[in-house]
Amino acid sequence: GGGGGGAAGGDVNAGIMDERVLVLVFRSLNFDPRAVGVAACVSRRLRAVAERVLWRELCISRAPRMVAALTDGLSPAGRVGGGWHALAKLLFFCCGCAPSRFFALAAPLPGHFAPESRFSKTSGRSFLARRCWGDLLYVSDPCEHPAGGGGGGAGAAAGEDLGSFRGVFRGFVRSRTRAWLVGRQAELEARVRCPYCGARVWSMTAAGLVPRSAPRRLGSRDGGGGLEYFVCVNGHLHGCCWLAHLSDDDDDNNDDDDGDDIGDIDESGVAW
Ligand SMILES: [Zn+2]
Ligand SMILES: [Zn+2]
Repeated sequence: GGGGGGAAGGDVNAGIMDERVLVLVFRSLNFDPRAVGVAACVSRRLRAVAERVLWRELCISRAPRMVAALTDGLSPAGRVGGGWHALAKLLFFCCGCAPSRFFALAAPLPGHFAPESRFSKTSGRSFLARRCWGDLLYVSDPCEHPAGGGGGGAGAAAGEDLGSFRGVFRGFVRSRTRAWLVGRQAELEARVRCPYCGARVWSMTAAGLVPRSAPRRLGSRDGGGGLEYFVCVNGHLHGCCWLAHLSDDDDDNNDDDDGDDIGDIDESGVAW
């Protein structure tokens, strides 16, 4: 916008374009993410407001506990790694699945809007190697996709479905996971980018940071090749796995294997 000041002139900020009014309008729409997304495309002014306020308000309104934990008691205006737009996208968008170095797949599966996801830090803990247990990570339940008509392709065993999951670290810059990756000089993936912020990612399989609890948590097979996930430099996680159909005599439904997280009943899971 034009030259300085602006407080007195105020044309740009008048009426409906007033930031506070916009927040009220979108609150009345219950911060429908599609409405915010459309608004952000209308004009540069609205895009700026969305970046500064609307995506953050949307995240807070839909996932208040999770956002409080991620910002760690900082003011709600606090920043999150990768920005609020990326976090909003992570909350509402399943990124599908693509073949990668450690995950064979015949063809990529497109992402989609996912209005009802559930994130929990109890689940997140299953994706942290023991040495990284001090980190706080939220991970979604896997979004299940029927393996395609082609038999699911390269990596699938009979009867397996494809699962896609995603998550986010609190304060990734100071996390043990990042310290380990940087300390070990783990290489960033050449071909994979974060579907939420576009940044570069590490493969947790390549880094040796996938604990045995991860496939169990997901209901995936225990052996190799059953899952892969990536963490970007801003602390977003995304991954995919093969989900076994449970048979009648499958007695392995107790996914809380060692009882560690029984007492950690997750109040922060958010259902939309
Ligand atoms: Zn999905
Ligand atoms: Zn990212």
